[in-house]
Amino acid sequence: MEVDREGLLELARKAKENAYAPYSGYKVGAALLDGKGGVWLGCNVENAAYGCTICAERTALLKAVSEGVRDFTAIAIVGGNGTGPAEPCGQCRQTLVEFSPDMEVVLEDGRGRPIYHKLDEMLPWHFGPMRLKED
Ligand SMILES: [Zn+2]
Repeated sequence: MEVDREGLLELARKAKENAYAPYSGYKVGAALLDGKGGVWLGCNVENAAYGCTICAERTALLKAVSEGVRDFTAIAIVGGNGTGPAEPCGQCRQTLVEFSPDMEVVLEDGRGRPIYHKLDEMLPWHFGPMRLKED
């Protein structure tokens, strides 16, 4: 049975518990739903060399892709402590759009209520694989 959007948010909250964010203090969890109903969890992992830090969304995505999964229907992202939605950064939007531009992005407001977006609406006019194919 496929997890519903509320369930996906709950899994993102669980994933957030593993976040390693000693520098920013901003912990993030992500739960990525694939086309077969599988869920891939990720958290942000910071580093003393700040540029080595990776976001929760890309952690989840890279786990899935490295296991051969490339089709996704939704991602839930939870971050901070009641500070409002944890929108994916530009780098994560670009990384996610490579695989499933039409996936749903589920965020939560400061009170834990879901907010729904479509990924391609969050990154309009994105550069994608179609630009690298010859006619
Ligand atoms: Zn990011």
